Amino acid sequence: MSPWRRQSLVAYGQPLCETIAACPTPRGSEVLVRVACCGVCHSDLHVQDGYFALGAGKQLDITKDRALPFTLGHEIAGTIEAVGEQAGGAVIGRRVAVYPWIGCGACPACRAGNENMCSANHHLGVIADGGYASHVLVPHPRYLLDYAPLSPAFAGPLMCSGLTAYAALKRIADRAERGPVLLVGLGGVGMMGLALARALFAEPPIVADIDAGKRQAALAAGAARAFDPSDPQARRAVMAVTGGVLAACDFVGSDKSLQFTTGVLARGGKVVVTGLLGGNFSIAAAMIAIKAMTIEGTLTGSLAQAHELLDLARSAKITPIPTRERPFEEAQAALDDLRAGRVVGRTVLSA
Ligand SMILES: [Zn+2]
Ligand SMILES: [Zn+2]
Repeated sequence: MSPWRRQSLVAYGQPLCETIAACPTPRGSEVLVRVACCGVCHSDLHVQDGYFALGAGKQLDITKDRALPFTLGHEIAGTIEAVGEQAGGAVIGRRVAVYPWIGCGACPACRAGNENMCSANHHLGVIADGGYASHVLVPHPRYLLDYAPLSPAFAGPLMCSGLTAYAALKRIADRAERGPVLLVGLGGVGMMGLALARALFAEPPIVADIDAGKRQAALAAGAARAFDPSDPQARRAVMAVTGGVLAACDFVGSDKSLQFTTGVLARGGKVVVTGLLGGNFSIAAAMIAIKAMTIEGTLTGSLAQAHELLDLARSAKITPIPTRERPFEEAQAALDDLRAGRVVGRTVLSA
């Protein structure tokens, strides 16, 4: 059996380091996937930190959820290398993207098909060992999706940044028929959201980001207008162009981003929040009713939505976002660059 090389979290708040173990042998319905690519996601930083910042110095501790050493990474594409005796349908050599948001299968969320919302979940790279590694063990072949003819570097990130953006956009699809949507935050998820919005909606979206390079990249990728939310005139400028936004996605999820996004909503407008940056958002309570406002959160997406998204991506209407491939040994450097905001588009670790 080949060695199992992992870029492991060995202590919270510390750099990853390589650990080597014996590769697990898949049993029952399990499938062992050799990892070709694993996307680097902003949420990996929170797992490495061991907490979410809740604002006002408060933290949500997430260190109790996993044993160390632990392998991050949930945007995985690879090749089936070995299968358990009950892993029917999993063929060795098949190239697959891995749906990482694996639930308990028994709770109301799982029974409704929303394993991504399971509270007793086995989410890969979050609770169960993930894809910053030579191999990942997947509990059942139902979580493996064919991605050909897409590249693995495109297919892996679709399972998180793509799926998150897709699920968010679906929640504003009705309003998108009545005007351009606003996408706030143009990191990996936001840029994916832009590509998907171009495919799903008639009107090109407007976008906002505090980084000039990211605004430029978004305009090059087909955004109609780009705004700098740190500019005191930005709110007025968005209102002048749109008369108020009916549908927005906030891919940042900070107090500042939500102040901006809710501030430009039209009456009856809706903002879907996917970002986890943190902080403590407050709003004049009466404005929720006066503006007939909806603020809705979403967390990745369902297995069914992952299939829908891969079908959409295969239909060739999605332009892949800028992606930088780096070797697995650079996992920590890739996380450092992401934390410092030095990344445009997506970073993918490649074998
Ligand atoms: Zn992610
Ligand atoms: Zn469940």
